[in-house]
Amino acid sequence: MKFGGTSMAGTERIRRVARIVQRQQAAGHEVAVVVSAMSGETDRLVNFCREADPLYDPAEYDVVVAAGEQVTSGLLAMHLQAIGAKARSWLGWQLPVRTDDAHAKARIEGIDSDALLASMAAGEIAVIPGFQGVTAGGRITTLGRGGSDTSAVAVAAAIGADRCDIYTDVDGVYTTDPRIVAKARKLKYVTYEEMLELASVGSKVLQTRSVSLAMKEKVRVQVLSSFIDDDAPAADTIPGTMIVSDEELEGIDMERQLITGIAADKNEAKITLTRIADRPGAVAQIFGPLAAANINVDMIIQNIAKDKGETDVTFTVPGADLARTQALLESQKEAIGYYRMISDGKVAKISVVGVGMKSHAGVAATMFRSLADRGINIQAISTSEIKVSVLIDADETELAVRVLHSAYELDASDEAA
Ligand code: ADP
Ligand code: ASP
Ligand code: MG
Repeated sequence: MKFGGTSMAGTERIRRVARIVQRQQAAGHEVAVVVSAMSGETDRLVNFCREADPLYDPAEYDVVVAAGEQVTSGLLAMHLQAIGAKARSWLGWQLPVRTDDAHAKARIEGIDSDALLASMAAGEIAVIPGFQGVTAGGRITTLGRGGSDTSAVAVAAAIGADRCDIYTDVDGVYTTDPRIVAKARKLKYVTYEEMLELASVGSKVLQTRSVSLAMKEKVRVQVLSSFIDDDAPAADTIPGTMIVSDEELEGIDMERQLITGIAADKNEAKITLTRIADRPGAVAQIFGPLAAANINVDMIIQNIAKDKGETDVTFTVPGADLARTQALLESQKEAIGYYRMISDGKVAKISVVGVGMKSHAGVAATMFRSLADRGINIQAISTSEIKVSVLIDADETELAVRVLHSAYELDASDEAA
C-alpha cells in the first residue's frame, strides 16, 4: 500500500490512513506500507536548499529532502500502534533500499527484503518512507520528484506482493486530469504501455519510472483513493484502476476505446534556429552539444529547405533547461552557423494516447481538425505508435484538452447516452 502526500497531510489524514491499513490486515493480508512526505513538505525542503546555495551539493540536498518521508513513516507507525496494530518503520538505509549514486535522481538497484518479510510474517506492519535510498558508500539518496510511487513498486517486487495499491487523492486513472476536465471518466483498466505513455507525457498520477518498473517486474498495480469512509468497498474488490498487460485487457474488454486518455504538459520550452545550412552534419552540430550537457530534446522539426539551401530547425527542451540551452547554443553560434535563435517558454504539449491507434487510421487527423475548428494553432507535432503530441500556446491548454476529450467521445455523458 502506498499513500501520497495529500493522503499523509496532517494528523487526521494519517489517522484515516492507519485505519485503511489496519482494515487490509484484518482482511487477512500481510502489509507493507510506503509513504510520501506531507504534501508541500518536499517543496518546502527544496526551497531551503536553494536558499542555502543555488548550486547546492546534490548529496546534501538528498539528506535534506529525504527527511519529509522520515517524519511521515514514523508518524504512521505511531498511529497504527495507537489503534492496536503492531507496526514499525524501516528507513531506506535500514532495509536497505540500495541505489546508484546519481543524487536527486537515483535508481534503485535492489532492496534487501529478508528482515522485512520476517517482520511482516510475525504480524508487524512495515512502514517504509518512499523516495529515499542509500548508496553503496552509505550516503542517502532520493529518487526524483514523485519517486515514492517507484519505491512502492520496488518494494512490492522485492517482497513478491500480490498487489501494489497506490492510494492518492483521486479514485483512479481518468481519461484526463479530472481536475481540469469535470467530464473526465474513470478507467477500470489501463495497460502498462498506455500508462507509461500517459505518465511520460505529463499525467502525474504515477511517476513514469514506477510504471516501467511495474511492467518489467510484472507488479499488479492499482490506483485508488485514500479519501474514503470506513465502510467503503475494500481494495480487494478493485474499486480503483488496475494497470494490466495488453493480453490481460484483451480478455476483459473486447470493445476498447480507440483513445485511452489525454495529457497536458506545460513544462516544455520551444527553440527555433533559423537559416541553418541544409547539409549533412548541420543538425548533429546542434544536438550533439545538448546531449553532452544532458539536456533532453523532445520534439524536433526541420522545415523543408527552400532553394537557398537553408533550413529552420525547431525543437523543445524541458522548461527548466531553457536558460542553459540558450547559453549553450549562443556559445555554439559560429560552429552551428544559424542566423537567429527564437525561444518561447509559454508552450504546452498536449498528447492523446491509446493502444487502439496502432490499428486505426485518422487519430491524428481528428486531433488536428478539432484544434483547428477552435482556432488553436499547432506549432509542432510528434508521434509514436500509440501517441500523438502537439505543441500549442500554453494559454490554450485547458481548452485544447476539453475539445479533444469530447472529440474522441471520452466525456462521461457520452458513455451514459
Ligand atoms: P500523490 O501525492 O498521491 O502522489 P499526485 O498529485 O502525484 O498524488 O497525483 C495525483 C494527481 O494526478 C491528481 O490529483 C490529478 O490531479 C493528477 N492527474 C493528472 N492526470 C490524471 C489522470 N489521467 N487521472 C487521474 N489523475 C490525474
Ligand atoms: N515527496 C516526494 C515528492 O514530493 C516524493 C513523492 O511524494 O512521491 O516528490
Ligand atoms: Mg505522486
